[in-house]
Amino acid sequence: MKEFDFLKLKASLLVEGIGYEQGALEGLGTQFKEQNHGLFGWDFEDHVGQALPDDFLLPDGTVVQFRLNSASPYRVMGTGEQRMLFHDQEEVCPVSWIKRPAFYDKCTTTGHKMVRIGQIGGEDCLFFCYQNYCSHFSRHKQCLFCNLVSTSKTYGSVLRKKDTEIIGEVAQAAWAEGKVNHVLLTGGCFGEQKEVEIVSHIVTAIRQYTGFDRVPGTILPSPAKGDNIKRYFDTGIQAIGFSMEIWDERLYEAICPGKSEATSHSEFVESIRTAVRVFGEGNVYGIFVMGLEPRSTFLEGVKALANEGANVVPFVWSPNPGSHLAGHRAPTAEWFADVIREAADIFSDSGVPAGTENHCYRCDGNNLLHDALREKNIE
Ligand code: SF4
Repeated sequence: MKEFDFLKLKASLLVEGIGYEQGALEGLGTQFKEQNHGLFGWDFEDHVGQALPDDFLLPDGTVVQFRLNSASPYRVMGTGEQRMLFHDQEEVCPVSWIKRPAFYDKCTTTGHKMVRIGQIGGEDCLFFCYQNYCSHFSRHKQCLFCNLVSTSKTYGSVLRKKDTEIIGEVAQAAWAEGKVNHVLLTGGCFGEQKEVEIVSHIVTAIRQYTGFDRVPGTILPSPAKGDNIKRYFDTGIQAIGFSMEIWDERLYEAICPGKSEATSHSEFVESIRTAVRVFGEGNVYGIFVMGLEPRSTFLEGVKALANEGANVVPFVWSPNPGSHLAGHRAPTAEWFADVIREAADIFSDSGVPAGTENHCYRCDGNNLLHDALREKNIE
């Protein structure tokens, strides 16, 4: 096999999307893990009725999100253990689908299929969206990149609202298989007090069903302030993240009209500062959509948050169907690879703990930072 820059290949697959030969999907939904659209849809085009892989592995273990684009030069061909990635007619490297968790076929005591409650991101991150709802849509002030409502309407594949007890049951079943290492919890927009209460019930249920004293993983709540940050810590979750989306203040206001009205840039920074005091350095994340603002402001945000003792999770933007930015184009793979390597330099120089016990390179295929840190043996 040729030498590859796997990080750049991953960036390219996220920016260009990927197609497939029908035979390459053999075993999907039985032997291999399929997409379940727990929150957003990341494909370039909808695919109702066609099961597709959620993500896949490159030969060095890099996890890549599968983003369907039938016009992409990338295509997966072959069957069995012989799946190969092609770029146009040229062979690139072997790829493997990820094994489907056995709990996906189990049912909760309430009779719900567990896969409709929680799904695995990448290889080891158990994801729960406790409510697929966001009030910014009804006021036409949703973030320009977001397709939460259209994804839910198009696929309807997950329960929109989940009972806290059954989340505990799913966590127990998932951990029992020995593959899950972290949870990721998020919900739509709530009243702050109500959300703290719901999260507290959920984390308590997960602790009861798994036996953890503190649950390894991250909560991404609606913007929380002051005392509520301590309340989230008291639920027993190890890490917290704040979805700032865009660092540049004016771009943030333009791209996230509803969210920026509710929570300003400086309020987010203040909340992150408070959260680092409460959760500890490395256990707090700023979540960004990478590719919608200039390199300079994105890296300014990375530096500022590293100085606060926080980490970042920058998702590679995809022009998702159903979002206002559908049909646009992301920056090049070279841009993503260069910028993320500079971000990794900033983090490794900063001394902020990488927090990989809560979120790691195996968790999600749509973020390049863990891969860039892994190149520096930080994993
Ligand atoms: S806050 Fe923005 S990104 Fe989050 S669900 Fe609402 S519209 Fe989507």
